[in-house]
Amino acid sequence: MKIICIGRNYSDHAKELNNPVPKEPLIFIKPSTALLTDNKPFYHPDFSQEIHYELEVVLRVKKTGKVIQPQFASSYYDQIGLGIDFTARDLQDQCKSKGHPWEIAKAFDNSAAVSEFVDLKTFNPLSVHFQLFQNGNVVQSGDTADMIFSFDYLISYISTYFTLQQGDYIFTGTPSGVGKINIGDKLEGFLEGNKLLECKIK
Ligand code: ZN
Repeated sequence: MKIICIGRNYSDHAKELNNPVPKEPLIFIKPSTALLTDNKPFYHPDFSQEIHYELEVVLRVKKTGKVIQPQFASSYYDQIGLGIDFTARDLQDQCKSKGHPWEIAKAFDNSAAVSEFVDLKTFNPLSVHFQLFQNGNVVQSGDTADMIFSFDYLISYISTYFTLQQGDYIFTGTPSGVGKINIGDKLEGFLEGNKLLECKIK
């Protein structure tokens, strides 16, 4: 199982970090050891002083495929959930300034919290609303209608390079409003008003 993440898929988020809006999806991968499930707490590691939350809609891959054409992409996912792409922003900025890969900032243990998954059939995938609350206050509010690259385009693009396997997760990018977590925080993620994710920071 692998976790494929898309960077800068919402132009308002790209702008808030002073990044250009990409012409093709920006992809990175987290290993299976990054997965944090069942609303378990996230233990703040010592190697970063600035870990950010990034709430994202997550797709679960339904069947194995490669070089999938966009018109067939929708048959490769049927469940949707929420995830938090925990990011050590201080380390990421250091890596970026040196032109180095991001892995230590993005792919560390437990850096990919995922919620339970629900049947995508009950939603219009072209417009799914999602929100993150930090200690009861809304900090991120997004809608998949604002994605630069659609679910189907992402499936097709990713599978050009990486075979998608059943059970893989795809983090589809975060809207604006990313920010720092602190020990003691409670993060709650809502998909179309339903609370799917809770994560305490310890
Ligand atoms: Zn992200």
